[in-house]
Amino acid sequence: MKKRAIAVLCTGIVLLQLTGCSGFKSFFMLNADTTLEVSTSETEKTPVGAPDLSPKENDSQTTSSGESSSAATTRESASAPTTESETTSVVRPETTTAQTATTAADPSVPQPSTAGNATGLTSRGYTIREVDGITYVDGVMIVNKTYSIPSSYSPGDLTDECRAAFRELQDAAASEAGLSMYVVSGYRSYSTQDGLYNRYVARDGQAEADTYSARPGHSEHQTGLAIDVNSVTYAFADTAEGQWLAANAHRFGFIIRYPKGKQEITGYAYEPWHIRFVGKALAPLVYDSGLCLEEYFGITSVYA
Ligand SMILES: [Zn+2]
Repeated sequence: MKKRAIAVLCTGIVLLQLTGCSGFKSFFMLNADTTLEVSTSETEKTPVGAPDLSPKENDSQTTSSGESSSAATTRESASAPTTESETTSVVRPETTTAQTATTAADPSVPQPSTAGNATGLTSRGYTIREVDGITYVDGVMIVNKTYSIPSSYSPGDLTDECRAAFRELQDAAASEAGLSMYVVSGYRSYSTQDGLYNRYVARDGQAEADTYSARPGHSEHQTGLAIDVNSVTYAFADTAEGQWLAANAHRFGFIIRYPKGKQEITGYAYEPWHIRFVGKALAPLVYDSGLCLEEYFGITSVYA
């Protein structure tokens, strides 16, 4: 952590000196929830989307402290990473089968997970159902540290509904506030997440990696329902775009998934850039409640 604190205060040039890099100005911003962002200095001509994931390169660039870094100031020079691209065909869960069973199980008694059957109630009384290895609470797909999705689950991109909702958000941000909102990280496959997470573990150790990176099968990005917006930096929260997103995302069916001050409940540090599509009915309710999704539903986010 000391190395990081130092790095945060340094300029990109100093960082290069610290890391002993020569002639290599690409460096990385940590996406606290698992993205590895590629940032480049103004003079860098390295192709976007060709991240060098060397732990040595990453080490002094990480900013989990919540402070802006030199990478944050130069991040805008790099466009969205292309590591999201997946060609996997769309596979959607058969959610209709989940509607057939309504028997509420006693949450204090472990229940076998039967596809389509209610598997219990949350602490706030919402129905938990598991369908094809995917957990739905009150009909909403849940992916966090407690609930995983199968490695085979791969919508291949943002879902149509999520993408359409984000377009609405973009249009509103532009017309209402003259702001440009865009996706820097959307869908990520299980295998992409597996690679990212294991690199973070190799670099920082599992305990620390778990505070900002989801284990494979536990990332919301695998659902095609999560988007990292504009800038994967803590400084984003204080930008006009970040503030607009926080105040308006719910109108379009999104929530700030990992709010400030909720790390012990969501399992992840504050991420002002990460939004999760939960639908236009639920998002305003969660927003108005002031609760994170785990609190709202009464579920946990803890690895077994
Ligand atoms: Zn994210």
